[in-house]
Amino acid sequence: MEVIGIDLGTTYSAVAALAADGRPELLVNRDGERLTPSVVLFESPTGVLVGTLARRSAASRPGDCVQFVKRRMGEAAAVHVDADGRGYRAEEVSALLLRRLAEDAATALGRPVRDVVITVPAYFDDARRTATRDAGRLAGLTVHRLVNEPTAAAVGYGTHSGQDGVFFVYDLGGGTFDATVLRVVDGDYEVIATDGDRHLGGCDFDNLLIGYLATRIIEQGGPDVTRDPVLSAELRERCETAKIRLSTADTASVRLTVRDRTYSFQVSRSEFEDLSAGLLYRTELLLESVMDEAQLSWRDVDRVLLVGGCTRMPMVRDLISRLTHRVPEPGVHPDEAVALGAAVIAGSLTAPRPTVTVTDVTSQALGTIALDADTGQLTNFVIIPRNSPVPCRYEETFVTVQPRQSRLHASVTEGEDSDPEHVAVLHRSVLALPPGLPDEAPIRVVMSYDVDGVAHVETIDATHDRPLGAVALDRPANLDGDRLAASEAALAHLGVR
Ligand code: AMP
Repeated sequence: MEVIGIDLGTTYSAVAALAADGRPELLVNRDGERLTPSVVLFESPTGVLVGTLARRSAASRPGDCVQFVKRRMGEAAAVHVDADGRGYRAEEVSALLLRRLAEDAATALGRPVRDVVITVPAYFDDARRTATRDAGRLAGLTVHRLVNEPTAAAVGYGTHSGQDGVFFVYDLGGGTFDATVLRVVDGDYEVIATDGDRHLGGCDFDNLLIGYLATRIIEQGGPDVTRDPVLSAELRERCETAKIRLSTADTASVRLTVRDRTYSFQVSRSEFEDLSAGLLYRTELLLESVMDEAQLSWRDVDRVLLVGGCTRMPMVRDLISRLTHRVPEPGVHPDEAVALGAAVIAGSLTAPRPTVTVTDVTSQALGTIALDADTGQLTNFVIIPRNSPVPCRYEETFVTVQPRQSRLHASVTEGEDSDPEHVAVLHRSVLALPPGLPDEAPIRVVMSYDVDGVAHVETIDATHDRPLGAVALDRPANLDGDRLAASEAALAHLGVR
């Protein structure tokens, strides 16, 4: 069995496999490209178009196009409703992308592709990881591992360069930001700390430029183009092009024709940098907080790796050199490093002896809400702290609070705050307790993260050492078994080209 690596990105996706000499290689898609735009165009009730051709249609047919679907992973709401009124969830649209990526990989490799490793942002929580796994299944793939993107990038760079030491990965992609510190020793990749922001990426920089120019059009007596889907899709495309141009040029021009009048603007790099200073500052705060968590100073960092298309912006490099006094490693391809690393990890999973070992950490604390005996307040108790190495299993014992207590309010939370109002509640249920328990009967709550960072929870009556019914994480944001099977059958009828 040969496993390939897939970087399922917000704006672009890439697929890599190990070549005969053991080096990872990007596979070209049917359009001859190494990167496939993560865009799905619903063409008809029976088929979708994926990739560059779909992306070209984004401006003229915004209502049929789904972009940035990764940002919606783990949400229950439909991200697209087709002409027949069928709603598609984020994992279903991602499945269509994955199917196309796998079909193209099969063509490139000359053999069927079924076994994959998929990368996810490090901060992806349980629901988003489960949705990614489900997307793989809906695409007919066997997902052997979900790997954190910054970890994959570090593995790609580390195996290629043979370098060891403390790596800092700054990953600013199309829709997301991740910061990760790892210790690398002899093919061992041990993540020390990681953090990220699900709503901080290239499209947010584009949005700032869109807002800025849309306001200038209004100032010049024009309409609000952001209210028109076709015009705003056109403006988005022009603004992204201008942003990219500003990485190498001092100025970029943006033109937009609205009702026979052409608006033309020159944007300078410094104007753009002023506009986006707030976004960049958000990445700086996250960098500092990750270093604090890792209990390291910048002096301890040996190498800085920049990953994600947006790290080509000069202001990102300036920020890195100001903070770290290091030059980012050359030889890290911002768009390809993640997929290449995923292919190395994928290859290692099936090698007779693993070539790399990866110890990742959980980006989210997991806990439960219980009454704090000292304060009498409902409190969130963290059971698995953030940045714990995965897989992991932690347990905590709580006690019943009333004599002859017959029911227990069980909950699973994500987040570190002790105030239940400030954490996400993944699960709430009421469990029946067996009769005859002593006062202050001990109840064990066992929480674990598997190697993919997916959470599992058990509750045990410690008096009799018996499970108290399953605290199956019902994951309202994910598809249950029946809906997954139905969706699999429905998607199988859609042609992907
Ligand atoms: P990724 O998700 O890593 O593929 O990153 C894609 C994002 O990087 C998109 O928002 C692109 O607009 C952005 N990007 C790609 N190239 C450049 C560049 N030269 N300068 C600025 N942003 C870029």
